[in-house]
Amino acid sequence: KGKLVETASSSVARSDVEDGGQRDINLDHGDPTMYERFWKQMGDKTTVVISGSQYISYFSDITNICWFLEPEFAKTVIRLHKLVGNAITEGRHIVVGTGSTQLYQAALYALCPPDASEPMSVVSAAPFYSSYPLMTDFLKSGLFKWAGDAHKFSQDRPYIELVTSPNNPDGSTRKPVVNQKDGILIHDLAYYWPQYTPINSPADHELMLFTVSKSSGHAGARIGWALVKDQEVARKMTEFIEINTIGVSKDSQVRAAKILQAVADSCDRVGTGPEEVQPFFDHSYILMEKRWNQLRAVVEKSRLFSLPNFSTAHCNFSGRNFETQPAFAWLKCEGEIEDCEIFLRSHQIFTRGGEHFGVSRKYVRISMLPRDEMFDLFVERLSEIRS
Ligand code: PMP
Repeated sequence: KGKLVETASSSVARSDVEDGGQRDINLDHGDPTMYERFWKQMGDKTTVVISGSQYISYFSDITNICWFLEPEFAKTVIRLHKLVGNAITEGRHIVVGTGSTQLYQAALYALCPPDASEPMSVVSAAPFYSSYPLMTDFLKSGLFKWAGDAHKFSQDRPYIELVTSPNNPDGSTRKPVVNQKDGILIHDLAYYWPQYTPINSPADHELMLFTVSKSSGHAGARIGWALVKDQEVARKMTEFIEINTIGVSKDSQVRAAKILQAVADSCDRVGTGPEEVQPFFDHSYILMEKRWNQLRAVVEKSRLFSLPNFSTAHCNFSGRNFETQPAFAWLKCEGEIEDCEIFLRSHQIFTRGGEHFGVSRKYVRISMLPRDEMFDLFVERLSEIRS
């Protein structure tokens, strides 16, 4: 239960309940509440007021292929990508979705031929994002089917490969692994932002997915966007969303636009006078850096666990040289512990085990994005675990 959607409530952990003196620490979902503090500091700068007479129509811009895309949201997406330098927007169609989750499904619909004799195989290199198999096979489509780990895919027929970079769950920087001539790629770039990883070049792929959930942290707005090169693919993705939900909430798009504008403004106006606000990506980078330092220190000392190592790279956006500091920690239990999820659960730390990501139970994925208090409690609890 609660495995399909990252932010769904878990049936096992009660994060705010005292239990025999020890609090549950629920880091199973990637709920980005870490960002709350920054947005509180911003006060009313991102407050949106919408009157009853606004946004009544289903339509936003009937001249656009994606006719339910709010022009203000589209403009802001382009501005932010240009500023950060993490994706090419020229020559791309923007398709907005109810989270990148809806866009993933729209992309599968758009990329599969409607009249193939058998469903298209969908693969991703393990460990892969645990929702991909669930989302792919949920409705038992005749168009596509989940075919598992891309490393093990050898059939010589068309396929779709999901390339998630940095990857959820392990933070690795990725490229396609199958590399057959008729392969179709979806690049899920939810975490290609400078608080998580050095931005070394603007991503320039056929179909790229982004989301406010992991950029500004507003998962509850349910807004994602796709940058799509091929016009027919953009049209079919729009058609999917039309039939699925007749468009995407305008209220949410307007709110997301306001928030992403504030992100861009904060980075554009570094240190200019009394109204100075900390640049969003500085705030979030510093917080991620601090958390990774805290976690690595405890893991090194414990010798019960290990974490992946990343190489240092230069970030063209911030000018910093740093190692990827992912939104999730991919923790491995060393030694005899065979099931890391069960082991941590015995210490009331709730995580997601490796089998959900197509690998061994020795691994767990731990969210690095909870509120400060929960993260500090987690590090403290982990430091108390002895073999
Ligand atoms: N892709 C990846 C790799 C993710 O980790 C997530 C969220 N955990 C999503 C997509 C879905 O994001 P959204 O909230 O925009 O649906």
